[in-house]
Amino acid sequence: MAVMTRFAPSPTGRLHVGNIRTALHNWLFARQQGGRFVLRLDDTDAERSSEEFVEAIRADLGWLGIDIDREERQSARFDRYEAAFETLRAAGRVYACYETPQELELKRKVLLGRGKPPVYDRAALALTDDEIAAFEAEGRKPHWRFKLDHDATIEWDDLVRGRQHFDPALLSDPVIRRADGSWLYMLPSAVDDAEMGVTHVVRGEDHVTNTGLQLQMFDALGAARPRFAHEALLVGTEGKLSKRLGSLGCDHFREQGIEPMALVSLLARIGTSDAVEPFADPAPLVESFDFARFGRAPARFDEEELKALNAKIVHHLDYAVVADRLPAAMDEAAWTAIRPNLSRVDDAADWWHVIEGPVEPPECDDEMQAYLDRAAILAALVDWSNNPWADLTSQLKAETGRKGKDLFLPLRQALTGRDHGPEMAALLPLIGKEKAISRLHCE
Ligand code: GLU
Repeated sequence: MAVMTRFAPSPTGRLHVGNIRTALHNWLFARQQGGRFVLRLDDTDAERSSEEFVEAIRADLGWLGIDIDREERQSARFDRYEAAFETLRAAGRVYACYETPQELELKRKVLLGRGKPPVYDRAALALTDDEIAAFEAEGRKPHWRFKLDHDATIEWDDLVRGRQHFDPALLSDPVIRRADGSWLYMLPSAVDDAEMGVTHVVRGEDHVTNTGLQLQMFDALGAARPRFAHEALLVGTEGKLSKRLGSLGCDHFREQGIEPMALVSLLARIGTSDAVEPFADPAPLVESFDFARFGRAPARFDEEELKALNAKIVHHLDYAVVADRLPAAMDEAAWTAIRPNLSRVDDAADWWHVIEGPVEPPECDDEMQAYLDRAAILAALVDWSNNPWADLTSQLKAETGRKGKDLFLPLRQALTGRDHGPEMAALLPLIGKEKAISRLHCE
């Protein structure tokens, strides 16, 4: 059977590193297997879902190079959920409940107080017709639970976690529909996975219990079970999924000058036994993808590691790939020379402006004037084929006794028109002998 995976975000916000990672793993696996990757928008909550977020999700996936074979929206499938609901109800697997949230909370507290797991007691199943009529007369509307089969142990072979086992008697029958008729996540997701032919559900381990419940839904609906892979969660360097990490998305990384392939290279492999490597293209990640290499410990996301990986990727980017992001006059030779010094593509412009000039000559006193004059003479004599900056500054140091800032800053100011900027050793050969000599003077 052809593999089908799906990424199922709720369009109630932007994607963040955690769900980007899940999307990526679904996509890598589908591509490796020659299968299909579906974007399923979990937009049953009309109030909180928005078109703006739908578009942002598509754009973010596009930026990352995660292409979509098919898009589905839960809001267009309410009739399917209704049909499944009726099937389950006819089979006695769905029942009406009338407890208020306060009453449920009280039951929970009592059970916890007795040291028992807070499992719903199925009191609603024992209601008499008169009691139900009394609730209805009071204006109470029922919410609906899926009735777990306590005799059927829940087991599956998880592609990451291995054999999983749950005793259904220790789980509450999940609420699948609210009193106002709206759907909770649980049933629509199972119905979609079943009807769309999803073969592999890849998601975070926070969904492990949901899987246990949903497996009984697949069985009750007579649907084939997909395989499941629950990946360990993503944590920050401080060891947990911080608020900050939960809010870091593609916009942030783009602003930081992070290349999509840096993020893809990192997120594909952290938490696995494969080494994180800078790839300019996802092909090696597709090829090497293997759930068996996923660890059970949380995957650590480190922005510093991402930046370092980004720099390595930038150092090998071809001119053709970046040309439209460079200053118009910057040619391939200049890009190739500057590239090893960049940690982000955008910084190329900074170098280019300094190299091209014109630069503003510095204001000098007599002493600085004399220093720059001497520098200009020495600059004409140093060997330009091999680290002219080291040569020039060591000679100036020996002659003038200057060091540190006194030695370097006047030169930088004259050569670049600025106090700060790219590394001079790399910059000077690009500025070139003639231009450099002509810049070594005062206003
Ligand atoms: N919309 C759900 C979520 O974002 C989907 C979970 C799933 O993959 O089934 O948590």
